Amino acid sequence: MDPPTTKDPPTSTEPPAGDVENVPEKIKDAKEAGPAFHCGICDAELLFKITQALLPGLATACVDNTTGGVFTSPGSVAADLRKELVEYLTQRTETYVAESVVLEGAPEAEVFDNPYDIIAFLIDEFAVSKRNLFSRVSALLLSERREDSIDDFAHQMEINGFWPVDKREEIVQILLKNVDAKNEYHCNMKFETAEELSLHMPTCSFRVMTCENEGCDARFSANKSEKHDSICPFKIIPCEQKCPAFLLRHEMDRHCITVCPMKLVNCPFFSVGCKATVPSCKIEEHQSEELHYHILYVLQGMYKEASEEVLKERVDQIEERAAGRLANAKNVRSLTSKVKDVDAKLPPLVIKTKKKEEETSETEAKTESVEGSGTNENAGGTKEVEAASPSLEAKLRSLVSETETKDHEAMPSSQEVPLSNKDSEEEASETVVKDAEATTENPVKDSEVNTKNETNED
Ligand SMILES: [Zn+2]
Ligand SMILES: [Zn+2]
Ligand SMILES: [Zn+2]
Ligand SMILES: [Zn+2]
Repeated sequence: MDPPTTKDPPTSTEPPAGDVENVPEKIKDAKEAGPAFHCGICDAELLFKITQALLPGLATACVDNTTGGVFTSPGSVAADLRKELVEYLTQRTETYVAESVVLEGAPEAEVFDNPYDIIAFLIDEFAVSKRNLFSRVSALLLSERREDSIDDFAHQMEINGFWPVDKREEIVQILLKNVDAKNEYHCNMKFETAEELSLHMPTCSFRVMTCENEGCDARFSANKSEKHDSICPFKIIPCEQKCPAFLLRHEMDRHCITVCPMKLVNCPFFSVGCKATVPSCKIEEHQSEELHYHILYVLQGMYKEASEEVLKERVDQIEERAAGRLANAKNVRSLTSKVKDVDAKLPPLVIKTKKKEEETSETEAKTESVEGSGTNENAGGTKEVEAASPSLEAKLRSLVSETETKDHEAMPSSQEVPLSNKDSEEEASETVVKDAEATTENPVKDSEVNTKNETNED
């Protein structure tokens, strides 16, 4: 026995060095009849987990037992409390299962199934019973300082070898068997001879195995090897997103959200309206398959007033001219600039400029006044219409939609249109803007022109 140190403050007190002599007597009961050679191998993981719980439990009891004491410290009571703890746990685990059966009906009683929960509960129960008056009334019980003292003291005991792992394991094996009434966590096979037992051991389903995956130091019972295999962080497995890569399980999450070619990403045209998410390696495929829609989205940005129908026709025209070139555009900016290039070379989307319209009507007026009902004028008109006929149609449609929009939303469309084309350096585009403005201002006149032309054609 180490003499209790009386002057040191609790945290600096060294626990007594290993003097373990407290393996319980339970082992001796070779019992009445029946085979004498017990296998008794315990579930390796559970054994380890419970073994780990003993030191913090003891440290808690030691700290709470000596809190506020001038002449006591955790180290001074450690050896005694360790002995008491082992006795307490041995005794309580022997009766726990029987008691819990009785208690099961009582709603407030805590009944655990898992041996770890049972033993942890009992360790806690022991520690609580060892609290001195000071620690019971003191706010320290909840303080961080108490937690720190407990951690420190448990750590000291670990380093000093005050209660070595193998000694703790011997005790835990007994405790575990006491509470494992269903034989789920230990082998209860018994044999007549030592030979029989030694033949059994290498095949026992509880025999300890170590993980073969490089980097993994897990130990588990043979009957848990599949379970470990299914969660081992060091197992090499195929990518969960089904890319061709094989990687360590613990690297999977990062791979999947970073470099995996099957990572889902937003379409580069997300900001203009394509809401598709695509595996990053399939982006090119998506872009060529959906080119039509991507061009449409870009045009919708350019011609905010135009109906979808009108714009779809425009897309067809643009694709006819330059599908190959446009397919190379990988982002909104580059596709927009290419679409604008092509669009500028097409007849204006929303028909002739204002000037031309005025000229036309002037010409018409002149021709009419000079020649009366003139074939010349008719020819000129037809020519004009033919040249611009797709645009004319489109323009009319857009006019209808514009009027509708105005009616519904009372929006000043003349402000919006120039904005959408603001970034264009092409003169042609500007012309189109003027067109749009012109037509917005004077829809009736246009339809009149159109009607007139149609009538004249007959
Ligand atoms: Zn066995
Ligand atoms: Zn492993
Ligand atoms: Zn992958
Ligand atoms: Zn897309």
